[in-house]
Amino acid sequence: MARRISVFGSTGSIGQQTLDLIARDRQNFELFCLTGARNVTLLAEQAKELQPQIVITADDASAGLLSELLDGTGIKVQAGRTALLSAAQERVDWAMSSIVGFAGLEISLEIAKTGGVLALANKESLVCGGPLLRKECATYGATLLPVDSEHSAIFQLLKGEVRGSVSSVIITASGGPFRSWSREAMAGVTPAQAANHPKWSMGQRISIDSATLFNKALEVIEAKEIFDFSANEIEVIIHPQSVIHSMIRLKDQMVLAHLGVPDMRAAIGYALYYPDRSAIPVEPLDFAKLSKLDFEAPDIDRFPALNLAKQVMDHGGLAGAVLNGAKEAAMDAFLTREIGFLDMADLVSDALHDPAWQALGRGDQIDQIVAADRFSRDFVAANKGQRS
Ligand code: NAD
Ligand code: MG
Repeated sequence: MARRISVFGSTGSIGQQTLDLIARDRQNFELFCLTGARNVTLLAEQAKELQPQIVITADDASAGLLSELLDGTGIKVQAGRTALLSAAQERVDWAMSSIVGFAGLEISLEIAKTGGVLALANKESLVCGGPLLRKECATYGATLLPVDSEHSAIFQLLKGEVRGSVSSVIITASGGPFRSWSREAMAGVTPAQAANHPKWSMGQRISIDSATLFNKALEVIEAKEIFDFSANEIEVIIHPQSVIHSMIRLKDQMVLAHLGVPDMRAAIGYALYYPDRSAIPVEPLDFAKLSKLDFEAPDIDRFPALNLAKQVMDHGGLAGAVLNGAKEAAMDAFLTREIGFLDMADLVSDALHDPAWQALGRGDQIDQIVAADRFSRDFVAANKGQRS
C-alpha cells in the first residue's frame, strides 16, 4: 500500500532531494502536503509532478501567485504559519521536517505529536528544543529518524551495540572551505566564498554554518540530544574527503565507521525506507580512486564554534536556543555585510555569556524557547554595530 507522506520545506536542498527519491518510486508514495516559502514557481512544479493534497507557502505575499500557478489542478493551496502548523498536525506515515532554521522547531513538535515517523533534517529543532522534542516523541509514540549524514551514520552504527559497549561517538567534519586558511585571511571572507562548500551541495545557510564550523557545533549538540552522549563522549575530527560519515568507538578500543560518497540522498533514503533498505541512486564508493583518507584535529582558535557547543552542552537548558538564535541573527548580519566572518562566533559567544537569558526558564516549554530565541536575536541586533 502506498505510504502517505508530507515534506515540509520541499523546495530546499533536502526537500528537493527527498522528492527526487519519491519521484523515482512514485507508486509507493501518496503525498499529503508539500511546503515552501518564496520559491513558489518550483513549489508549483513539484506539486504538478507529485500531486499532493495540499501545497502551502509560508510566505503570505506569494499565496496569490501560487494559486494562479496551480489553478485548475484541484490541489488545495494555503499560505502562512497557521496553515503550516495545522498541516503538520495531520497524521501521515512519514513526515520530513526540512525547513531551515528555528522556524522548523514547531513543525517538528507538531509532527511528533501525531505519533508518526519524524524524519528530522532540521537540526535546529534538537539544538533549541531537544528535551521537549524528545518528550513529545516519547509521549505520543513518534519515531525520530535523523536525516543528517553524521547522525544517520551513528544511528546505523549503534544498531546491534549495547550502549555500555560504546565509549564515544566520533563526528567527522569536512573542515569547510577555510580549513587551511589563516585567521587573518578568514577575517576578510565574503558571503559568496563562505557559501561555497568543497564537498557537500547544500542550502546557503548550512553551507555558511559549515564554513564557521557552527554546523558541526549544532551537530555535536544534536548528537547529545538524539543518542544521550555527554559532551566528553562526543569527539570531532576533521576529515576533508567526507567519505567517513561518522564513527563509534567501542570499549575494546575498536572503531566502527560508516562510509559512502557524500550524497544526502543516502541519509534521506535510509530514513525513507527504514527499517528496510532500498537501492538509491547514489554513486558506489570506489576505493581505488579514493586512495587515501585524511584526518586532522580541529583548530579551536580559528573555529571557536566547537568550544561554544561544549559550553552549551555543559549548561543545558536554554543555552542551545541562545546559541542558535544568535548564530542565525549573526549570519543575517554577515549576509548583509554588516559584520565580518569571524564576528559571527564572537557575537554568539557574547550572547551566551550574557546572564540575562538564564532567567527565562529551564527550556522545557516552547514559550521559554521562543523567548530565548528572541533574546538572542535582540542581543545581536543591539551589539552588531560594535563589530563593524
Ligand atoms: P534550504 O535553505 O535549501 O531550504 C529550506 C526550506 O525551508 C525551503 O523549502 C524554504 O522555502 C523553507 N523555508 C525557509 N524559511 C522558512 C520559514 N520561515 N518558514 C517556512 N519555511 C521556510 O535548506 P536545506 O539546506 O535544505 O536545509 C534544511 C534543514 O536541513 C536545515 O535545518 C539544515 O541544517 C538541515 N540539513 C541540511 C543538509 C543539507 O545537505 N542541505 C544536511 C543536513 C541537515
Ligand atoms: Mg551533517
